[in-house]
Amino acid sequence: MSFNGNKVITTGGEGAILTNDDELAQRAKHLTTIVKLAHRWEFFL
Ligand SMILES: *Cc1c(COP(=O)(O)O)cnc(C)c1O
Repeated sequence: MSFNGNKVITTGGEGAILTNDDELAQRAKHLTTIVKLAHRWEFFL
């Protein structure tokens, strides 16, 4: 779902993904956050 400014329900931006599939939910959360995987370097945002 899109909550972009031109929609009936809006927050000004962003959106939401609905699923009852746990695996898909985890994958979507990974992709829609910072897609950070464990590695040996430390970095600062
Ligand atoms: C909602 C909408 C957008 C914006 O899409 P987002 O993925 O929410 O950025 C762009 N174009 C049209 C025609 C739309 O209806």
